[in-house]
Amino acid sequence: MRVMKFGGTSVGKPEAMIRCAELVEREIKIHGEKPVVVVSAYSKVTDLLLDAAKKAVRGDIEAPYAAVAKRHADLLNGLGLDEQIGQKNLSELHDLLRGIHMVKEVTPRLYDYVASFGERLSSKCFAALLRKRGHADAEAINAYDLGYVSDANFMNARPLPETYENIPKAFEAHKGKLVVITGFIAKEKNGDITTNGRSGSDFTAAIFGAGLGVDEIQVWKDVPGVMTADPTLIKTAKPLSRLSFEEASELAYYGAEVLHPATMVPAIKRGIPVRVLHTFDPEAPGTLITVEGVSDPAHPVKSIVYKEDQVLINVRSERMLGMEGFMARLFEVFARNGIVIDMISTSEVSVSLTTDITDEKRLAALNKDLSEFSKVDIQRDKCIVAIVGEGMKHTVGLASRAFKAVAAAGVSLQMISQGASEINITFLIDNAQIPNTIKSLHQEFFGQ
Ligand code: ASP
Ligand code: MG
Repeated sequence: MRVMKFGGTSVGKPEAMIRCAELVEREIKIHGEKPVVVVSAYSKVTDLLLDAAKKAVRGDIEAPYAAVAKRHADLLNGLGLDEQIGQKNLSELHDLLRGIHMVKEVTPRLYDYVASFGERLSSKCFAALLRKRGHADAEAINAYDLGYVSDANFMNARPLPETYENIPKAFEAHKGKLVVITGFIAKEKNGDITTNGRSGSDFTAAIFGAGLGVDEIQVWKDVPGVMTADPTLIKTAKPLSRLSFEEASELAYYGAEVLHPATMVPAIKRGIPVRVLHTFDPEAPGTLITVEGVSDPAHPVKSIVYKEDQVLINVRSERMLGMEGFMARLFEVFARNGIVIDMISTSEVSVSLTTDITDEKRLAALNKDLSEFSKVDIQRDKCIVAIVGEGMKHTVGLASRAFKAVAAAGVSLQMISQGASEINITFLIDNAQIPNTIKSLHQEFFGQ
């Protein structure tokens, strides 16, 4: 059995959703069995919902609600489906927005409840489309009705271990049916709806894939797979045929539009391959992600990725840096201010750290606390560039090739680090230097 996950763009318009239905039918034909389908909300609808929750506090309810209802209606109408589909969900959403206005407050718990309607609507629409196409047994089911129980960490919930035992049991009742599951959402033990973080539907696909012990998890995207670089910057970027889980996790972490980083974990644990496929070119092999990667000695670097809008924090303290306890104190200040550290490098007299937290207030508080025992300099608009590949473990001279390429582009490096896994080299540049840096690196490692 296989899991097929379709993202927001893939189900966001009638023609695209029909394409997904054809892919499901293709899968049934090829493998002679029904896949388990996981869907995201229609593209941008999660944003609309979160916005509606926020605006409801001030009593601005009707227009944001109508924007969501319209997206759903456009899909139903465009596909010639019954207008009643999802109406109960929509009226529940409307009541909920009014409730938020009454209490004049929206909490993470309520954000999740509101956001859940995106996937609850899209799954119903997709199942109805499949029924219309002759799959009478197609049924939309909420992930939490199929055994997915999460912790109560709203907006970033994780499955409780029992989820993996619950899922196969819950599926017994739906054996042989064409099941369409809501991505992104779960319920915690008390029955409140949670979400597993933005772009979390991939994660849901991996959880169900792991729970059911499937042969493969297919993530269908509107790109040909994981690419050698951002194709919007590099026209000659190519899809990668193979990646290891470790490489894919690094790439996801550094912002590659690949997969939700945590997606990998349930799949890795069971050794289930994940395949990223192209909705509009299903015959193309896509990118296969497995525990053991394959590295090509001619291409030790697999991909170049970047994460923009980072903040660089330089901390200098001539007196204290070498002293024991200094780092502990430093990290304690970051933790106290809720600032997550990404890159770090140290010298005799200074420590440089980066974070993607850009919130003015928090950075000001951090600055104040650090200034009590050191000189602080905070710089914005930085970008982390990472070159990633298993082959880097065994190849000498890669760092120098990378740095030469960056220098040739006239870009200065502000921080350099290599992770313990040795499959990436990361460095910091200015946001403004992204295009020339990536182009020069792509030329160096991929020859175009
Ligand atoms: N609909 C959710 C989001 O937009 C989850 C997903 O698309 O994977 O973040
Ligand atoms: Mg998405």
